[in-house]
Amino acid sequence: MKGPLVIAIDGPSAAGKGTLARRLAAHFRLPHLDTGLLYRAVGLLAEKSGRRPGEVATALQPSDLADPDLRTDQAGQAASKVAALPEVRDNLLNFQKKFAYQASGAVLDGRDIGTVICPGAPVKLFVTASLEARAERRHRELRERGLDTIKPRVLAEMAERDRRDSERAAAPLQAAPDAFLLDTSDMDADAAFAAALAFIERKGFRSSGP
Ligand code: C5P
Repeated sequence: MKGPLVIAIDGPSAAGKGTLARRLAAHFRLPHLDTGLLYRAVGLLAEKSGRRPGEVATALQPSDLADPDLRTDQAGQAASKVAALPEVRDNLLNFQKKFAYQASGAVLDGRDIGTVICPGAPVKLFVTASLEARAERRHRELRERGLDTIKPRVLAEMAERDRRDSERAAAPLQAAPDAFLLDTSDMDADAAFAAALAFIERKGFRSSGP
């Protein structure tokens, strides 16, 4: 018998993972965890408090994940620095595994979901796009939020974060061997959702809703 539907989504920043994860969670009525928020919260809280990131990771509270500052690029950079520390990753592991293996099934997105958090997930997606396309999207998003940015800077910071996330020893960003590769460089959110849904349905999972 097929077990619960666990959807593991990985990929670099601004590839469209978050939007896809939210849409799939709504479609299949599954709880969703944006695991990047955990690393963002640890990075920002450690910077603000001066406490050891590993210690901050053990004491993380749900209310820490509601801070609007977590969405800034500064938080993204702080996250990718603390995310390279094995102590931080170890201390966030159990919470993520529990979330993934709850009876209802779940959707998680991040960098190591299909490789480390739930290597047994029946559905793994690796969502990527060219650096240029991702920087363009992030730049547009920041400007829509009223932030003053220049595209070369957004692109350079993104390249630096990609490098840090891919080259670190602890759980580097990489596609699981059995992940479905989705390159969204020339796709909008609807096309990415349709492609992911077709893959999941081919695996025999359907929404139970109307
Ligand atoms: O996805 P998001 O941009 O919010 O992630 C912020 C940072 O957190 C990433 O650049 C990465 O360093 C780290 N991260 C991670 N593992 C995850 C999720 C995020 O290392 N599962």
